[in-house]
Amino acid sequence: MAMKHKPRDTKADQCGVENCKEKGRKSLSTKKVRSAVPNLKLRSDIGKRVHLCKNHYKEYKKKTKKERELERLAWE
Ligand SMILES: [Zn+2]
Repeated sequence: MAMKHKPRDTKADQCGVENCKEKGRKSLSTKKVRSAVPNLKLRSDIGKRVHLCKNHYKEYKKKTKKERELERLAWE
């Protein structure tokens, strides 16, 4: 018996960004993603959590990092 990781719901595992056909890798809070990358268009059928593909996750990380850096600079 193969105990392979089998995709239960391919749509749920897809990246939550509209028109993105990549596989979602990271599960994130939709709210957080919306506030960090407001220009990112998320699909309307996603719930409280959204999966982001590698590229979109990178984009999200970059934005959150930038914000943190700006915050830090403001304190220095
Ligand atoms: Zn994507």
